[in-house]
Amino acid sequence: MIMKSSNRTYTKDIPKHENRQVTLMGWVDARRDHGKLLFFDVRDRTGAAQAVCMAKEKELYAKANELRPEWVIQVAGVVQKRPDGMKNPDIPTGDWEVSVTELVVLSEAKTSPIPLDSDGRNIEEEMRFKFRYLDLRRKRMTQNIRLRHKVTSLAREYLNKQDFVEIETPLLTKTSPEGARDFLVPSRKYPGNFFALPQSPQQYKQLLMIAGFERYYQIARALRDEDPRGDRQYEHTQIDMEISFADEQDVRAIAEEMMIYVTEGCGKKVLQKPFPVFTHEEAMKKFGMDKFDMRQDKDPDTLAFAWVVDFPLFNKDDETGRLTFAHNPFSAPKPEHVEKLLKGEDLEHLRAQQYDLVCNGYELASGGVRISNPSVQRKVFEIMGLTPEQTEERFGHLIEAYSYGAPPHAGIAPGLDRLVMILAGETSIAEVIAFPKTGQARDPLMNAPSPATKDQLDELGIMIMQNVNIKMENDNRPVP
Ligand code: ASP
Repeated sequence: MIMKSSNRTYTKDIPKHENRQVTLMGWVDARRDHGKLLFFDVRDRTGAAQAVCMAKEKELYAKANELRPEWVIQVAGVVQKRPDGMKNPDIPTGDWEVSVTELVVLSEAKTSPIPLDSDGRNIEEEMRFKFRYLDLRRKRMTQNIRLRHKVTSLAREYLNKQDFVEIETPLLTKTSPEGARDFLVPSRKYPGNFFALPQSPQQYKQLLMIAGFERYYQIARALRDEDPRGDRQYEHTQIDMEISFADEQDVRAIAEEMMIYVTEGCGKKVLQKPFPVFTHEEAMKKFGMDKFDMRQDKDPDTLAFAWVVDFPLFNKDDETGRLTFAHNPFSAPKPEHVEKLLKGEDLEHLRAQQYDLVCNGYELASGGVRISNPSVQRKVFEIMGLTPEQTEERFGHLIEAYSYGAPPHAGIAPGLDRLVMILAGETSIAEVIAFPKTGQARDPLMNAPSPATKDQLDELGIMIMQNVNIKMENDNRPVP
């Protein structure tokens, strides 16, 4: 008989039920046949417990004998202390087992196309991501995804206590440059027009400061069309925040406290408190780069945070030779450099009120004090080569908003995926994302991207150029 799940016992709790009847629900983890006895492990979200069937219970034994790994079952039985010599010190329930009195198969399972009892590192990525729902069953992945939840919970807890308001901002929006290519979404209602997916909620969070919220955060998705690699994916998540009437020190202090709260909350050590601070120039001199690892022993349980400050305001674009923003076009120059900026002097040497947080060799966060003066903002776009008309078309809404009482504001956006990756001791953010893209920038599980139907394209007013090869390898569907 199938039990109601409210009467279910979790595997981790069986020690509390010694000599009593329990009902477990979960997956068959492993099965061992010892002739007179048949053992199988039941795995649920809390761990695993051993079940045992005796050969003399013929019907039950025959049923248990059918079980295969990953079948979903309900098992009723009595919790018993295992005999000495049969105990398993490796799992918390290892001193007990459930002597089965009833067995119900809730769902059979085909043989998994990928092994699930290893850490999975040797399995081809394409296969792991195609069968991600199985891949996520492996212990390492389950732990990583749960750790991610813990990190977001701790960050939320900290920010809520500091009186921040969590606000969602749109995914369908206009481009907000962070130095990557945009993902565009065609509009059906306005054929030939496109939404852009946000490279970050940057402009919205600034508008929320003008709206008066003063302390905003969001566990926000940022979408950037740049080739995926170890610490990059098309989509990443930021713990995005912005504060009004705050300067660089205020934002750094809050971000620093949050990082310590999260890191220590996850049981890891922070190497140095307060975090050391280097100017960009010092960092380049001392470490040869602006992201560096300060751990001597590379202890994976220690996080070595450091601030890098005083970034250049502009960088020279190697291809065009033009000046472009170093962080995003909204970072304010140092107060003493505003005059030079407005005069257009010495542009390559101007410094921004911009700061990065690095940790164990990764760039973990970027932030800045924002421009809240319309003429300074216009000048930055002019230097980047935008005509006044282009500035108006692309950013007029923001510049106009500055004219309705904009408080000084500043913010930062720590990368959640990289933070969890470091805390988990992983070297690729895909290992801490439930459904990542492959290195080939595809989702083999959903088979995305994939061609649109002719009807969809017609409705959007889109024609695919003949010479574009829209048929993906591995995609056997006909091109519409
Ligand atoms: N929007 C910035 C980024 O995505 C972060 C910030 O300046 O707050 O890097």
